[in-house]
Amino acid sequence: MAEIPKVLRSRRLLQWAAFLVVLLIGGQFTLWVLPYLEGRPPSVPRPPGVEAFLPINSFLALRHLINTGRVDPVHPAGLAIFLGILVMSFALPRSFCSHLCPAGLLSELLGRTGARLFGGTLRLPKAADLPLRGIKFLLLGFFAWAIWFQMSAADVAAFLDSPYARVVDVKMWLFFARPSNLTLLVLAFLVLASLAIRDFWCRYLCPYGALLGILGIFSPWKITRRESKCTQCLACTQACPARLKVHQETRVTSPECTACQDCVAACPEKECLALALPGGRAPILRPALGVLLALAIYAGVTGLVGLTGGWKTSVTPAEYQKRIPEIQSPLYTHPMGLNPAEKGPEKNRRE
Ligand code: SF4
Ligand code: SF4
Ligand code: SF4
Repeated sequence: MAEIPKVLRSRRLLQWAAFLVVLLIGGQFTLWVLPYLEGRPPSVPRPPGVEAFLPINSFLALRHLINTGRVDPVHPAGLAIFLGILVMSFALPRSFCSHLCPAGLLSELLGRTGARLFGGTLRLPKAADLPLRGIKFLLLGFFAWAIWFQMSAADVAAFLDSPYARVVDVKMWLFFARPSNLTLLVLAFLVLASLAIRDFWCRYLCPYGALLGILGIFSPWKITRRESKCTQCLACTQACPARLKVHQETRVTSPECTACQDCVAACPEKECLALALPGGRAPILRPALGVLLALAIYAGVTGLVGLTGGWKTSVTPAEYQKRIPEIQSPLYTHPMGLNPAEKGPEKNRRE
């Protein structure tokens, strides 16, 4: 059976802690939304952290912030979390993927399960791997084009205030809690593909990962190898989940690097491989400190933006009580799917 590379323990601990937080948020949101669907008020408050699962809405909110200098009051926590993720993944390349993203943890675990079941995971040949890796960047390009070039500032403001956006968190919950056959089919395909090919979704399809990867190219901290200490044992390259040839790099600049530091954990030579600032012998981070730094940056930025823009949605309990029971009506279809005459702010504002 092929050896399964070891993982940096402090990072794995943080991933599980983040996963637990996500489960708690999901559980509380479920307890909040179910009574509303039955037409009665819930006994638990809505967890603002649920807005972490609205990346497109947060992307639009970021554009709204740039356009107007104002935080979208409907999903302010989503914007704070999104900014925390962006800054964290800029400071330490794509570190959200390897430290906090629940889909990243599931993807890793499925890959490891597949490796145990089949004695290894499939590696597509370069001729197939390279173009497939481009898909996530194409998807990101499409979203960026649609949000930045196809929508005016007024369109963005109207979207964020539309009936759809005001309950988009509930829409998202329904998507996963009451999946269609097509959703189940796609999820089953992704699970099977992730068992066979490590990080199938993250490596080939996730536009969020593509955005963080592009930011990561400009990160000051990068995995840095000291040639003078390297014995060319290849342990780093064998451990790298992104399949980078770490033993050949002096600084890893690939957008596929997630700062997971599994290569560092695998390296047998002291101070040979580490996250480091540019400049040769500039400060290097001990692995656990790298994990702590990633978490501190995320918590600091999210907390600061949250304190500035507030955490709580402007949607009142009375509005939820009115909207959620009727959420399957055409009023709550995606505004981009409506006629231009129907999607203006006048039509979309609270009735
Ligand atoms: S690529 Fe996407 S799904 Fe995968 S870890 Fe990164 S953000 Fe999460
Ligand atoms: S180069 Fe190192 S830090 Fe980057 S993805 Fe590979 S193992 Fe992780
Ligand atoms: S694991 Fe360390 S010593 Fe071995 S090739 Fe990589 S950097 Fe060099």
